[in-house]
Amino acid sequence: MKKGKKLYEGKAKIIFATNDKNLVIQYFKDDATAFNNQKKSTIEGKGVLNNRISEYILSNLNQIGIKNHLVKRLNMREQLVMLVEIIPIEFIVRNIATGSLTKRLGIEDGTTLERPLIEYCLKNDKLGDPNISREHILAFKWLDDIQLDLIDEKLKRLNDFLLGLFRGVGIKLVDFKVEFGFTHESGKNDIILADEISPDTCRLWDSITEKKLDKDRFRKDLGDLIPAYTEVAKRLGILHEQSNVSAVNVTKLSSVKKKNK
Ligand code: 5GP
Repeated sequence: MKKGKKLYEGKAKIIFATNDKNLVIQYFKDDATAFNNQKKSTIEGKGVLNNRISEYILSNLNQIGIKNHLVKRLNMREQLVMLVEIIPIEFIVRNIATGSLTKRLGIEDGTTLERPLIEYCLKNDKLGDPNISREHILAFKWLDDIQLDLIDEKLKRLNDFLLGLFRGVGIKLVDFKVEFGFTHESGKNDIILADEISPDTCRLWDSITEKKLDKDRFRKDLGDLIPAYTEVAKRLGILHEQSNVSAVNVTKLSSVKKKNK
């Protein structure tokens, strides 16, 4: 597979073309951003861990019939994925109220929700990813009724799967964000899960201590992020107890180079 030109660079990943028009390479950067790009850092080793964790989760989703873009992991930082046209919506599922939900609605932080709550945000940094309703999605034809019902159904199934996966390793899945995209392979339009599922895109709390094992460590200055992400990978059985993200030196992994803060 030949790596071609850069097609897109986001905050945490870069997409490169390949010699197959239906496939692209997704490269995981070490960059971390929060609060709509106002806080930025480079955290060495983050991309390697997210690549491994997301590969593990997405490759298990086929078991529950959630089609996704992952073809295979290529190396420490890259995955071969299907080319999709990303739907400009962030799909959020919440099991425990925290983050923007508590700020917006005054709900007490840590409240367990009786049923999973699905929210939609417009994927637009300039506008600060505003919350939108189902009616907005239909009115502006980002999706039709059938497509949105299908995605909601997938989100519930995905949430059940992830809740169980993390519960089994002593982690509470508080909430997560996912993205979907259209594939246009051989003229057929299909919607599949894209992007990543990792501690960058989920809130993960230790089941007993409620220690945060996700990007909130960076957002809220709670201390080093790499040991927390490594802990998630080890509990999922991706990294062995003694190993430190394969060839990457552990001291390098732990060093956080602040670019800007
Ligand atoms: P909140 O709306 O409370 O800030 O975030 C809800 C969930 O979605 C959290 O798990 C958070 O990590 C994820 N999330 C929301 N927006 C983004 C985003 O722009 N980037 C990433 N990586 N995660 C997001």
